[in-house]
Amino acid sequence: MKDLETEVQHFEPIELNSHNRPLTFPIYQSAKFEQDTFENFQAPQEGDYFYSRVSNPTVRQLEVLLAKLQGREDALAFASGVSSLAIPFLALLKAGDHVIFFAECYGPTRYLVRNFLEKFGVTHTLLFYDQANDLKKHLKPNTKLVHFESPTNPALVIPDISKITAIARAANVLTLMDNTLAGFHQHGEFEVDLFAHSLTKYASGHGDVMGGVIIGNKDLINRIRPVAINVGSTLDPHTSYLISRGMKTYFVRYRAQCASALEMAKYLRNHPKVQKVVYPGLEDHPSFALAKKQMKESGSIVFFDLAPEVDQAQFFNRLRYFRLAGSLGSTESLIVPCKKLFGPDLSEDELVRAQLNDTTMRVSIGLETVKDLIQDLELALM
Ligand SMILES: *Cc1c(COP(=O)(O)O)cnc(C)c1O
Repeated sequence: MKDLETEVQHFEPIELNSHNRPLTFPIYQSAKFEQDTFENFQAPQEGDYFYSRVSNPTVRQLEVLLAKLQGREDALAFASGVSSLAIPFLALLKAGDHVIFFAECYGPTRYLVRNFLEKFGVTHTLLFYDQANDLKKHLKPNTKLVHFESPTNPALVIPDISKITAIARAANVLTLMDNTLAGFHQHGEFEVDLFAHSLTKYASGHGDVMGGVIIGNKDLINRIRPVAINVGSTLDPHTSYLISRGMKTYFVRYRAQCASALEMAKYLRNHPKVQKVVYPGLEDHPSFALAKKQMKESGSIVFFDLAPEVDQAQFFNRLRYFRLAGSLGSTESLIVPCKKLFGPDLSEDELVRAQLNDTTMRVSIGLETVKDLIQDLELALM
């Protein structure tokens, strides 16, 4: 007979009959995986799990799903979207290498390249997307990586993906595309080497958990894996479960939000107190033809400028449904003034070229009815 103190450490788990399974995948909430014999411990088999920082079945399930959606062989999930950039940078670059990236990118990416990579002796060239066609001119013999986004966050610039990848491939330079705004079902047909996504956005979908993923073919993911394991920005199984759960409604949410975003963009375009509206699905987007060719769906973000006479404090404080918060891809609609959030590190010149003014706004459309959302803006702009 075991003592009760021992019993609580070693009680019998419930085993299901082999013909009887749960409908949803279990959460393997365990940091460690044991082997049943000494012999198996000495010679683990392929597919065995050992330690959740290395791999965990619940996390693995999500990685396999996301690789499949993006049309690549493998993926590694992380605890946040920025890790899906920082860890590949660490894994693929070394002192003396050079990277090219674009000023209109997500702000923390600029920090990673300008501060973090610089510190480790990796130099960079910062371009604007209107220079993307001349990318070749900016490649150096030691250029190893080009980082880009489409659409960019927040200004929704649409660069020509196949032009960028063709120039990079011809020079044997890797491309890493932050595909967060387009989503997992888009851009897979392009010759992009690695796709990064923040899972905090459309994958989780409910604004409650954070995650990130890097997706690519096996050889590249295998180069990143040892760094990922040893840096340890590990996505935990419970969060992985919630993100996998979010993925079940990914297409329904994404499409509903796209449809509302287009309606919203059209409404804003005709509003006298709105000056410029950017949405890839709107014919007057500067790269509408390219956006149409590259994207099946245009996303849930609308970027616009309020007229300078709008009292912004009054505008924001009157909003009832649009929440004043960063991030995107939630079920609630969100709005943020862009300059302070996205450009604190940019010079005045760079801010102008990146289209970030004092009046610039980004909205992320949620799942409210578009009628209520339009009315919310209508009343706030009265
Ligand atoms: C949010 C975001 C990230 C970073 O993701 P986190 O989950 O916040 O770390 C990276 N790139 C883009 C384009 C994003 O929108």
